[in-house]
Amino acid sequence: MKSSQAAIDVCYLSSVSANIESKEIYLPNTDCTIRSQVPLSGFTSYRVGGPAQWYVAPRNIEALQASVNFAKEHDLPVTILGAGSNLLVSDRGIPGLVIATRHLRYRHFDPETGQVTLAAGESIPALAWAAAELGWQGLEWAVGIPGSVGGAVVMNAGAHNSCIADILVSAQVLTPDGKLETLNREQLGYSYRSSILQGSDRIVTQATLQLQPGADPAQVIAITKQHKQHRLTTQPYHLPSCGSVFRNPKPYAAGWLIEQTGLKGYQIGKAQVAQRHANFIVNCGGASAWDIFNLIRHVQQRVQERWSIVLEPEVKMIGEFSLAC
Ligand SMILES: Cc1cc2nc3c(=O)[nH]c(=O)nc-3n(C[C@H](O)[C@H](O)[C@H](O)COP(=O)(O)OP(=O)(O)OC[C@H]3O[C@@H](n4cnc5c(N)ncnc54)[C@H](O)[C@@H]3O)c2cc1C
Repeated sequence: MKSSQAAIDVCYLSSVSANIESKEIYLPNTDCTIRSQVPLSGFTSYRVGGPAQWYVAPRNIEALQASVNFAKEHDLPVTILGAGSNLLVSDRGIPGLVIATRHLRYRHFDPETGQVTLAAGESIPALAWAAAELGWQGLEWAVGIPGSVGGAVVMNAGAHNSCIADILVSAQVLTPDGKLETLNREQLGYSYRSSILQGSDRIVTQATLQLQPGADPAQVIAITKQHKQHRLTTQPYHLPSCGSVFRNPKPYAAGWLIEQTGLKGYQIGKAQVAQRHANFIVNCGGASAWDIFNLIRHVQQRVQERWSIVLEPEVKMIGEFSLAC
């Protein structure tokens, strides 16, 4: 960014604290615009959350790098938003720059190696269906996980005894100093729903997964459909949620502990412990992030009293939750 442009942007930024009307800043040499006060509720599966102070959705690596540079130059914290399916965004919104990966898109299936290379913003369910239609096995289990490739790599998303770590060959990340690095599975420190990328300031830009081509597409599609159907019947997919709220404290299932504590159906505001699956907290319509946050804390407290087990949230809570809204 040229210094004159940076000076203009600083001027925009200083005016924004006094005046929160919507502003747009064009990122030079990209087709990318940074906008202020963008509501995030439409970008999260919970359908709650306040605005991003600044929001950008780059369409390529250069625009992503320019966005990161913008944040650095203006001393703004960066939050990465994938498909928003594992996020609880505060009603007060998120300070700093929210970078959404939704427009980082491409996928390449290599029949020679059986590997598929994907941009971070690709959808996991769409990928599972695409692989099934080609007769490539290895992603049938993922069809019910409504996340992006980047989010799945960071979270080590998994279901039906499989997870991303089982099939990941490598992930490309953008480091805070603007370099692209390729990390293999061992370097990502994977464990149950966890990787070293959680809480780090590296941004996943691309991933390569190992699949098995050559199966009968009809068979792979049938198994994929079964997995999807199983989800629809056992989990409350018809209401906004983040999937499982808590990690399973092995050997227990969090849902079982919550159900045995008598919390199924318990409600705070419009947030409810789902009747169909107790590890889901659903937005019954019009819940605030604060309702959901309070219910999470209530469930943790009641389960701890009953079982002396502290449930650890799997959902990432972003923004201010410590003060009442
Ligand atoms: C109905 C439903 C069912 C679900 N079922 C499952 C399930 O079976 N198994 C499972 O594991 N999960 C499940 N989830 C949770 C969720 O879909 C996964 O955790 C998913 O991997 C999150 O991906 P995302 O793109 O939505 O990430 P987000 O929710 O957008 O982000 C999650 C975290 O990853 C970070 N992040 C996202 N993208 C990047 C990136 N490119 N680079 C760096 N950091 C990034 C974010 O900053 C945040 O900290 C479910 C959710 C819902 C709503």
